[in-house]
Order: sequence, then C-alpha cells, then structure tokens
Amino acid sequence: MYVRGVGPRVAEMLASKDIQTAEDLLYHLPFRYEDRQNPRSLDELKPGEMASVIAEVRGSILLRTRKMPIFELTVGQGRLAMKCIWFNGSYLQGKFLAGQTVAVYGRVEPSRSTSNLKMIQPQFEVLPDATDDAETRLLEVGRITPVYESLGGARLASRWQRKVIFNLLEGMRGAVPECLPREMLARLSLADRETALREVHFPTEGTPFGQLQSWATPAHRRLIFEELFFLELGLELKRRRVRERAGISFATGENVREAIREVLPFHPTKAQKRALGEIVADMRQASPMRRLLQGDVGSGKTIVALQAMLVAIENGYQAALMAPTEILATQHFLAARKLLEKSSRNTRIVLLTGSLDEDQKRHSRGLINRGEAQLVIGTHALIEEKVEFDRLGLVVVDEQHRFGVLQRFKLMKKPNQAEPDVLVMTATPIPRTLALTLYGDLEVSILDELPPGRTPIVTRRVPGEMAEEVWDFVRKQVAKGRQAYIVYPVIEGTKDDQPELDFPRDDAEAGLVPPPSARKATRKGKSADLFPKTAVEANPAAKSGLKSAVEMYEKLRKGSLAGIRVGLLHGRLDADEKEIIMRRFQRGDIDVLVATTVIEVGVDVPNSTVMVVEHAERFGLAQLHQLRGRVGRGSAKSYCVLMTGPRISPLGEERLNAMVRTQDGFELAELDLTQRGPGEFFGTRQAGLPDFRVANLVRDRQLLELAKIEAARFAAVPDKSTGAEAERARVWARLKEAWQRRYGLVEAG
Ligand code: ADP
Ligand code: MG
Repeated sequence: MYVRGVGPRVAEMLASKDIQTAEDLLYHLPFRYEDRQNPRSLDELKPGEMASVIAEVRGSILLRTRKMPIFELTVGQGRLAMKCIWFNGSYLQGKFLAGQTVAVYGRVEPSRSTSNLKMIQPQFEVLPDATDDAETRLLEVGRITPVYESLGGARLASRWQRKVIFNLLEGMRGAVPECLPREMLARLSLADRETALREVHFPTEGTPFGQLQSWATPAHRRLIFEELFFLELGLELKRRRVRERAGISFATGENVREAIREVLPFHPTKAQKRALGEIVADMRQASPMRRLLQGDVGSGKTIVALQAMLVAIENGYQAALMAPTEILATQHFLAARKLLEKSSRNTRIVLLTGSLDEDQKRHSRGLINRGEAQLVIGTHALIEEKVEFDRLGLVVVDEQHRFGVLQRFKLMKKPNQAEPDVLVMTATPIPRTLALTLYGDLEVSILDELPPGRTPIVTRRVPGEMAEEVWDFVRKQVAKGRQAYIVYPVIEGTKDDQPELDFPRDDAEAGLVPPPSARKATRKGKSADLFPKTAVEANPAAKSGLKSAVEMYEKLRKGSLAGIRVGLLHGRLDADEKEIIMRRFQRGDIDVLVATTVIEVGVDVPNSTVMVVEHAERFGLAQLHQLRGRVGRGSAKSYCVLMTGPRISPLGEERLNAMVRTQDGFELAELDLTQRGPGEFFGTRQAGLPDFRVANLVRDRQLLELAKIEAARFAAVPDKSTGAEAERARVWARLKEAWQRRYGLVEAG
C-alpha cells in the first residue's frame, strides 16, 4: 500500500525497525503523550517528577568543560525560568532561537529554589509557529499530542510519524477492517478497531490523561486485547491439535505401583502426589501429553519425573530425560541409577552427553536403538547425536527454558510410531497467568510445597569488609562436617566473553557512568526529538574490580581457608573436569566449592549448608534465588551470605532486601519481573516469548486472562453453527497472518 511520506529509502529504514506495512505503522503506538491543552506552569513542578513543560526559548550556550562540551538552554514562562542541560551537546548548537516555543520532557532535578529548576538531557520538540504548515500546527499545538519513539534519526521522529499516521488514518476513514467478532466487542464493551487506532494516536480532547499515559483507555485496551486474543487463539488451536494426535495410552496397574514403591526413597509431599496424579492422568489418555511441571528449587521435581518414567518403562516403553548441562545430566544419572538398584526389575539406564568419546556414544546409541536401554539420561546430545529410540514413550526435559526444543522430539522417534508424551520441568517460578502464555500449549502442574524437614535458610547481607568473619564461619561449618559454595560473578580477570556473566546493568542503574556520548545526532531542523537513554549500557571497564573465581580460589586456599579441601568449578573447565569436581563435591571429598553461576541450576548436594555469594549486588534476583536454592536441601540449618561491594544501586538494594525478606520464589519472581520487564525476565528469544507490539505481559495480565477465556470460547464453537461465518473466516485469516508474522510458530510443536 502506498503511504504518503514513505519512499523507498524511508521504507528501508522502517523495515529495519520491523515496520513493513501500513498496519505495522498504525500499531506503532505513541509511548507517551503530552498534554498541550493544559500546559504545566514551572512553579508547580516538583523535584524528582517526570514532567513535560511548554516554555519559551530565552537563550542557549555551549560550555566547553575539560571533560566534555555541555549545552545549556534556558527556557522561561513569564518571570519563571528553567535550565536544560545536555552533556556532549555540541550538536544542539544553533537548534534553538530565542522566542521559539519548545516542549521539553524530563526529570525535574531537585534544587533549592524555583529559580534553580533544571532538567538534565530532556527530550524536546520545538513547537511549530505561524511559519509552519497548518497540519503540523493542528497535530502539535493545543491538543493531546502523541510522542513516538523515533524510527530512525530526526527524519522519522515524532513529527514525521504524526503526519504519516494522521494521513494514513484519514485515507482509511471508514475502511479499517475489523478483525474481532462484533458480538465479542459488544459483549466486552471494546472499541472497534478503527476508532481504537484513531484514539490511541490522536486522542479526543478530554480523554483522561492518566489513562492515556498508562495505556488504559478503552482504545488501548481494545488493541491490547486484540493482540492477546490472537496469541491465545493460536495457542488454543495448538492444544486442540495435540489432543487430536495419536499418542500412547499407558496403563497404570498394580505392577506400575509396585515398580514405583520399590524405588521411592521417601513419602511424596501432597503437591508431589497431586502433580503425579495429573501427569499419570495425561499419560493414560490416548493423546500425547504436553505438560509443564513447575516447582521452586528444591520442591522435588526430579522424583516426580522419575515416577512418570517408571510408568512408561513398566508399559514396555523407553523414557528419556534431558538436562541442560552435563553436570546435571550426570547427577540425574547417578541418582537414578542408585534408586533403581533397589528395583527387582533389571532396568538398564544409560547416559549420553556430548563429552563421551565416540566409542561410548556409539555404544549408548546402540543400546537405545535396540531398546536394550529403558531409561536414557542425557543432554542436548540426545538430539544432536541423532539418537533413534526403539520405542520412546516419554521425554522429560529439565529446565526447559534453557533450550526450546519441544518441536524436535519428533526426530527422536521412529517414523509411524505414536508420539511420545512430553513433560517439561522448570524451576523458574512464573506467575501462573504468564506461565499459561509462555508455555501456552502446555498444561501446568505446580509443586507449591517443599518436602518436610527443611528449615528456612538464614539469609544475611554482609559488606565485603567483613570477609574474614565470613570465612571464619565457613571454616566452622566445615568443621561440623558441612560443605559450602562460594560464588563469584566472573571466572577470571575482566574478560568479556564469560558465559556465566549475566548481571543487571548496575552501573547504569546507579547513575555511576557519565551520561551518554552516543546519539551524537547529525540532526538538522528544529523538529529533532532527542531520546537519550537514561540507562547506559554497562561500561565494560566497570567489570574490573570484581573478584573472580580463579583468583579467589587461589587466595582462599592458601589463606583464610588453608587446610580445608577447596575445589574450583566454572564454565571454562572442560566437561570431564567439571564432572570430576562435581562428583568429588557430591561425595564430600571437597569441602568448599569456589564457583561461578555454573552451579546455579539444579545441583543437589544436601550436605552443603552455606552459600556465599560475593558481589551479590551484581546478580539478578532469579540467579540469587537459584543459587540460594543450592543449600537448605537437607535437614541441617543452612545459610546464605550475600556479600556486597562498595557501590550498590537502588535496584540492587531492592534485590538484596527482597532476598533477605523472603524465600518465596513466586514473590521474588514478581519483583524480578517488574525490575527487568518480561523480555529480559524470560529471555524473549530463548523462551520463545512473542515480541508484542502493544501488549505487555506484566501490565496486561487481566486482559490476558480475558483473552484466554475468549479464545477458548471462540474455538469451541463450530464455524457453521454461528450464522456469522464470514466474520469468523476473517478471524481465522487474521490468526494465520498474525502467527506467521509475529510469532513464526504456526506449525510448531
Ligand atoms: P528440584 O525441584 O529443585 O529439582 P529435587 O528434585 O532436586 O528438587 O529435590 C530436592 C531434594 O529434596 C532432593 O535431595 C530430593 O531427594 C529431596 N526430596 C524430594 N522430594 C522429597 C520428599 N517428598 N521427602 C523428602 N525429601 C524429598
Ligand atoms: Mg531439578
């Protein structure tokens, strides 16, 4: 479609922002609004608030300080004035003329008096005057004005988008196709599509401003609902399709019960029983199971999975368990072998990981392929090595979020065989509504109870200067026969390529890094929007000054922990070495394990009672929670010591306090989610979480629930019965398009 203002070059720039159609442009919503109907007066600004101000340019000056050029703009309203300051602001020279009207938006800096009001690096827009065209004036003066994220430099800034979108909407007046059923819109009191689009871009005078800023207007809600509805409808279809496929109906007679009873080392918790019940009910069904077992660290997922695997094995099928790391695969293998020793059935169990040598791999593959191994435990190698199972009945994936491979299980079974059941386990406590979306095509079971006999972990914050006392404590615990972990954020030195590194950008959070020099715009013309990132990418140099695992291993071994058996574990060791160290720690041949976050996931050594994390302020909440979950696994009292460096950002503070306050994974997950946003929280790409255009999983949870219900309701009705076939056909067409374009998942799983 031809859009006024979009030539080939602009189209190219837009495409790089994933805007390929007129529709994409219409769904690129303003990220905030300016109320230019009721401009704020300078004397009502409060220090610390984000404010947008319309004022007159009084003058400007470029100050050349030793560090960097600073551009200072003075704006005023009558006798009141305010300074706006941009670091590295040379590019702003000549942009402002005295007497022009500007809109600036930024944080009001605290100051002693109103005469000292300041904004640092505000966004700005020079407002049109009589010399500008009428359209620009219409869109930008005396109304609620949308502000857009720039789509490419000054050219495609807010002003450009306003005009293009305005013209687009004018051109389509009365012709924007509706994509939701009328009946649904009426029932849920949602705006129709065209009205919604018009209103989010150019709100009617009098639209409550707070609602606009929080995306809560009926127009916003309509567009958010629309996006979530099509996501949920797609997921619903996927679930329905799985239910139609041929799977295996496992029988669960007395022999299965007996097989489980023989090996079960303890009484399952109520939650474990319930989860197993749900899993077994699925396994008995003729359609393939797709279930997620969610449970906080230490809630005992492994034994639940093992029982499910025994069901498959007793039915004459093979079961496979896939772990994200070799350490975990090995740990599962050893634990399962130990349990199965008690069994009277000669279950053969094999391990298959990437680090086995070719002969061993070939041997394992052979056993699996001929059906001589019933229980197979491994890593990704199970897929990579093209293992073909003889009769695969159940696949268990541990910590699935680390690798989204659900679709590839098909590779593992022989053609023409029924599809295996799949059980996914995750320790990431995800709020239920979000889990339903993230793992939308899975049913969910939750372990919300810890096995009995656990005492709460005592968590303390300790400043780095008190290190000697911490080591002293570690020595005492070791003297009592306990074991400890000491975790560092980096392996060695200040290298950048360390796989474990995953900190929040603390330097930016703390405002410790000088303001950005980036975005040295070559912008011309007075309409330049400036959107300085308030958060600066972490400065790599700031990573120095962190203690590393390798360095501290040497230091502690020779110093404060001399005489104690200290081991070192990190991601750069080769797999064999890692395994040897881990085994020695498990056997108790190592007392203290100095490590990076490689130990974070799943490692289970119940005798360890101390988790020390140095530079704890640098770790994310999910990581800290996982790390702490390594202790408190036995009945002895356990401790988590969070040692901190000298500089802690406000967000870091909040994380540490939360860790001390609670051990509830769901509560910590909520905070993590609000701190980092869903994208970072889930690792969008990894998790297969869709990139939303308008929805936000944290903000829009209620709409998500609603969309899910509505999607199920819509899909449950056969098209023919409704008398609205044409309308339903449009919904289906839209679904296909949305899934192909947005999620690329159409035929997955
Ligand atoms: P996670 O859910 O983190 O994978 P695990 O399966 O590793 O947890 O279990 C944590 C620890 O709790 C293990 O040592 C396991 O043997 C033990 N455990 C699991 N279930 C029970 C139970 N019902 N009673 C006692 N101990 C249990
Ligand atoms: Mg586990």
